[in-house]
Amino acid sequence: MSTLSSHRPLLVIGGAGYIGSHTVRHLAEAGQPVVVLDNFSLGHRGAIVTPSVTVVAGELSDAELIESLFAEHHFDAVIHFAACSVVGESVAEPLKYYSNNVGAPLVVLEAMRRHRCQSFILSSTAATYGDPVTMPMDERHPQQPINPYGWSKFMLERILTDCQAAWGLRSVALRYFNAAGASEDGLIGEDHHPETHLIPRVLMAITGEIEKITVFGRDYPTPDGTCIRDYIHVLDLATAHAAALAHLRNEGGSLRCNLGTGRGCSVQEIISLAEAVTGKPVPLDYGPRRAGDPPSLVADPTLARTALGWQAAHPDPRFMIETAWRWLTGPQGGRYDRSARAA
Ligand code: UDP
Repeated sequence: MSTLSSHRPLLVIGGAGYIGSHTVRHLAEAGQPVVVLDNFSLGHRGAIVTPSVTVVAGELSDAELIESLFAEHHFDAVIHFAACSVVGESVAEPLKYYSNNVGAPLVVLEAMRRHRCQSFILSSTAATYGDPVTMPMDERHPQQPINPYGWSKFMLERILTDCQAAWGLRSVALRYFNAAGASEDGLIGEDHHPETHLIPRVLMAITGEIEKITVFGRDYPTPDGTCIRDYIHVLDLATAHAAALAHLRNEGGSLRCNLGTGRGCSVQEIISLAEAVTGKPVPLDYGPRRAGDPPSLVADPTLARTALGWQAAHPDPRFMIETAWRWLTGPQGGRYDRSARAA
């Protein structure tokens, strides 16, 4: 049986970010040679914990750097994580989003075309669907994004399709639902500035790092009145990227695939689970709805199972909260660069 070490090197762009670093660790520990390109604007050097990984600091829009990386390493595939992903910021600064998320990757695609590297895996998002029309959402759900972040990912998906028609690029776009959790050993996890996501904020309210969590709306048409989301463990996202890589290396065709568990969990349920896991109360208040939040977003993950042979191994939100808590309360306190920031 061939191991991943028998494969050509893989370029992982944005491999020092939250989902990228878990994927890089998973692949590298399985023996896959990996080169990470990251500009460390959002990623962290400390998130690359596998010594075999080659780390290059630089911009993906730097055509000379990209060309030299392809010339040196002869990649057969690229996984592309690097992107801005804060919805509210994308509304305020659309050009930043179109430049980083759509314009910059064109440089990489151009190098791939020149070097006949034909396999591309994209971090895409449920935000490409926009307001839900059917629930759960499968991949045939209409794609009508409602913010520039969603549009930027939608556009890149479209560009990949056009590159296939023009020069045979095969791509898997993985549409994540709500990524959560951290590595089981608490060594790597989520470290965003500012942190906007529900689970880390709930846990930060417990530790006192923030004063309290505000629940955005409790008048939604859901059983407890709070929003329902499909939380997916970051370790499951990592294995999905490995499955997508194997699919493309086995000459599999292009795919657009949801990554979720197919099970929804409300904001209130997350809060109750966090209290059960930590044994501590969550300081909270209830505020108005957040603009652009649909009541419920749940994936139909059937295609990922049938086409990639993948399904979530850790679908229980309790495990997501347990691992996130381990990361937040571990030696690093949920931060890669605490001393650097304090200095
Ligand atoms: N949420 C909340 N308070 C917060 C952060 C999030 O009530 O401080 C809610 C948010 O309205 C949504 C859910 O938690 O219904 C998940 O939000 P998150 O920002 O984690 O992910 P998103 O669904 O926006 O990608």
